[in-house]
Amino acid sequence: MKIERNVSLKKLNTFKVDVHANTLCTLEADKDFSIEKLDKYLNNFVVLGGGSNILFSKDYDGTILLIKNKGIEIAKEDETYIWIDVASGEQWDSFVNWSIDRNLIGLHNLALIPGTVGATPIQNVGAYGIEVGDLITKVTLLDISTRKELVLKNNECDFGYRDSIFKRDLKNKVIVKRVLFKLEKFKNHIDKKYLQYSGIVEKLKGKEITPKSIQKAVIDIRNEKLPSIQEYGSCGSTFKNPEISITKYDKISKIFPNLPKYDTNRKNIVKIPAAYILEQLGWKNKRVGDVGTWVKHPLIVTNYGQATPSEILNFLKEIQRSFEESTGVSLECEINII
Ligand SMILES: Cc1cc2nc3c(=O)[nH]c(=O)nc-3n(C[C@H](O)[C@H](O)[C@H](O)COP(=O)(O)OP(=O)(O)OC[C@H]3O[C@@H](n4cnc5c(N)ncnc54)[C@H](O)[C@@H]3O)c2cc1C
Repeated sequence: MKIERNVSLKKLNTFKVDVHANTLCTLEADKDFSIEKLDKYLNNFVVLGGGSNILFSKDYDGTILLIKNKGIEIAKEDETYIWIDVASGEQWDSFVNWSIDRNLIGLHNLALIPGTVGATPIQNVGAYGIEVGDLITKVTLLDISTRKELVLKNNECDFGYRDSIFKRDLKNKVIVKRVLFKLEKFKNHIDKKYLQYSGIVEKLKGKEITPKSIQKAVIDIRNEKLPSIQEYGSCGSTFKNPEISITKYDKISKIFPNLPKYDTNRKNIVKIPAAYILEQLGWKNKRVGDVGTWVKHPLIVTNYGQATPSEILNFLKEIQRSFEESTGVSLECEINII
């Protein structure tokens, strides 16, 4: 475990905001997930993985627990499946590559998402029709309130759309230490749920469908659409797509004709693409100083230079105000504002 004082977080958050933390405590190994070791830092703390879903609104007057434990281990396997136990500090995309190298089905749709493995259950990371909660068997945590290790099975994580128990009842109460995934071995067939997104199908035309070819299609699509976090500050999609009643949908689609809608698991509730509405409201590629929306995507708020946290926050509020004014629906932040 490493302790540093008065540390700049600029290189530790993908929004690239220049804020400082009073204390940075790096958990370098599984043995650092110990109440005895961490006790004096747990009054005022934030857990940080890759900082790709966090906006620091100001300097943080507490301890940042930076997760860096490593390890990818095969826990068990049978004819069809393989269970993999992964340390929370592993880079997510390295684990995706690990699985593709072994010809496993599942993670290809979630390729190129920045951040760590331990953060993926927090918001039930998802892309192109697949959510990580579909592939997680259990999550091992350090529970701050009971001071003990806690293991939650998949159904206890209460996964939903960009949501889980970790964003609600267990918010700031647990630290994810390891995650167990169950992936299927590829034997010439991949379930059609991985091919729901027309952009992937388009890219795969005339090609063999394998975990690797789907991953390649996803990488190509993401490189075409999303900002490079090496060049620009961003946390990907800043807002969640609203889930609304079908009656509300009928009203809004009169103002925004041809507004798409997607099924949810809930009766009479549909999901609408916020980007479709924001684009018509003029929010695509809109800039105020160094803050703006991405050239190709109005949901991706971007730091084009030296934007400050308050400039970014004001910009977010403006988008939310404009969306709510024209639809009557509030736009919920997907990112965590600290
Ligand atoms: C260009 C870009 C594209 C993106 N695309 C997608 C996408 O397609 N789909 C998607 O779902 N997300 C996407 N994201 C968002 C982000 O990458 C994911 O949410 C990712 O899982 C965050 O990982 P992280 O390690 O950076 O988490 P952080 O930003 O460090 O933390 C996120 C939250 O999780 C908590 N946390 C992190 N690690 C732990 C832990 N070990 N224990 C307890 N709490 C923890 C933090 O306290 C915080 O509340 C994108 C971001 C960017 C910049």
